[in-house]
Amino acid sequence: MHPRSSLPKVPFLRALLVLALSLGLASPAFAEQASDLVSPERSTVSVPVDAVQARQPVHAAHWMVAVANPIAAEAGAEVLRKGGNAADATVAIQTVLGLVEPQSSGLGGGGFLLYWDAARRRLTTFDARETAPAAATPQLFLDEHGAPLQFYDAVVGGRSVGAPGTPRLLELLHNRYGRLAWPDLFGKAIDLAEKGFVVSPRLAGEIKGDEQRLARFDGTRNYFLKKDGTGIDAGTTLTNPAYAATLKKIRDGGAEAFYKGAIADDIARTVQHAPGNPGVLSVQDLATYQVKEREPVCEPYRGYRVCGMGPPSSGGIAIGQILGLLSHFDLAKLGPDDPQSWQLMGDATRLAYADRERFVADSDFLPVPTQGLLDPVYLAKRAALLKAGTRLDKAEAGSPEWDHAMNTGDGNALELPSTSHFVVVDQWGNIVSMTTTIENEFGSRLMVDGFLLNNELTDFSFKTRDGDRPVANRVEPGKRPRSTMAPTVVLKDGKPVLALGSPGGAMIVPFVAEALVANLDWGMDLQKAVSLPHAMNRSGAFELEAGTQAAKLGDALKRLGYDVKVEDMNSGLHAIAIGPDGLTGAADPRREGVAIGE
Ligand code: GLU
Repeated sequence: MHPRSSLPKVPFLRALLVLALSLGLASPAFAEQASDLVSPERSTVSVPVDAVQARQPVHAAHWMVAVANPIAAEAGAEVLRKGGNAADATVAIQTVLGLVEPQSSGLGGGGFLLYWDAARRRLTTFDARETAPAAATPQLFLDEHGAPLQFYDAVVGGRSVGAPGTPRLLELLHNRYGRLAWPDLFGKAIDLAEKGFVVSPRLAGEIKGDEQRLARFDGTRNYFLKKDGTGIDAGTTLTNPAYAATLKKIRDGGAEAFYKGAIADDIARTVQHAPGNPGVLSVQDLATYQVKEREPVCEPYRGYRVCGMGPPSSGGIAIGQILGLLSHFDLAKLGPDDPQSWQLMGDATRLAYADRERFVADSDFLPVPTQGLLDPVYLAKRAALLKAGTRLDKAEAGSPEWDHAMNTGDGNALELPSTSHFVVVDQWGNIVSMTTTIENEFGSRLMVDGFLLNNELTDFSFKTRDGDRPVANRVEPGKRPRSTMAPTVVLKDGKPVLALGSPGGAMIVPFVAEALVANLDWGMDLQKAVSLPHAMNRSGAFELEAGTQAAKLGDALKRLGYDVKVEDMNSGLHAIAIGPDGLTGAADPRREGVAIGE
């Protein structure tokens, strides 16, 4: 259950390998080195060394959770131990995450959830994406001259806040599938909020990096900063009585107690009176918020079906397209140590992202050609643009066949990482794979009744037109901003075999696609697949994860004509595999998460 070192440390061999690599004599040994490549010092948010070193996958027979924070993971485990199911555990995990990892997700945010209903053998998806207020216009993120606002000028304050989806999602999920009584699922979060929880190194690091923005508003300043204006330290015991009071209202009154009445009034007032940057979210926007159940988006890959979230997320389509393109190449033969594997994955991502920028937005507002974008004939044509060992010159959006042609232009949404992903498998085989977010770290930095409000609306494209064409992902009243979140469930012969996802803003899709290729094509165990150093190409330049063997791909990629950037990459992959011998869980060593099972 505890992280242990999976690789024998053989300093001499390691030194030899490093020497060979530096002399260009060997290609980076991704497969062997995958699980202990992350060094703590390269991250701005440091986590204890033992939390980022090599890990073993966790095995269990009956149930399992994989969550980005150990306290929240334990809350889920407790529910499952008591005979609760995946829906019950989700309520406990999310309410605790909102307390102990408040920078990433919570009641004031939204998310996407895949649910495998074991009894009905059915996979479904829930869209709890935040929604633009009825009073929002396409000009929301333009200044008085029609120019796009600076990103953080838009984020911090009321303008970026959409109607949250998370409380309604928890209630809907529990009403539909839950086993334990709703009030019994709140005990842990209320208790921790009242008695206090210990601030983790990661949370303290995020606070320190954001002191100036957190100081802008009374709520966040008083909660996250000390009297001298610096952030609270790791190890501090923090209570949040306002959050406990909010949870009690939801426990006793259901989600209705959040969307109508005192809490809704507080949200609308805080947004509309945010100093310097007010927004237009109203109590009506909250009262009318709805979670939408949608069909999963699935793509065949190497004998599996990889299923994910459709619009308004681009996650399912983009991962489906990348895998569909890669299925034309023998990645297993190339293997993880061949730069050509990464070049193909990178160029496939570029093609998928070109389509995404042109076509994908909230499908309740414009026709998104989901089927056309995943059509095998279309993908075969696009795959013909890719060649192992030759850089794809230009990645432009394609022309999928579809019914309602709509001539939209390219948008410019910027997504920076915070967010959380967790997976639950219960003793009956029900599965939750949920990516949950308030968008940027600490969202809009507005805090109401013990929780942070999202800044999800900045996931819209700020620019509304591309020449004379409207941008698909422009702001419109009641619309949901396009997401990259990619909660995923992989099926084999109609049965789930793997569930995973990650935070990471626009890097989410390559993070998840890499882990899928590592596990399904390269046969890496789940922990290695999750720990694998990242290398991706979203826009022409190859981005390589700093402080890992991925940076060693740089020379080979430069020779192929790519610009190369080496940078920190903050994935938070959490995954559970369901095999004939039980469950296997993995948690990304870049964060604080754990997998727990019995
Ligand atoms: N808001 C982003 C999205 O919906 C997620 C942000 C993140 O992963 O940090 O795609």
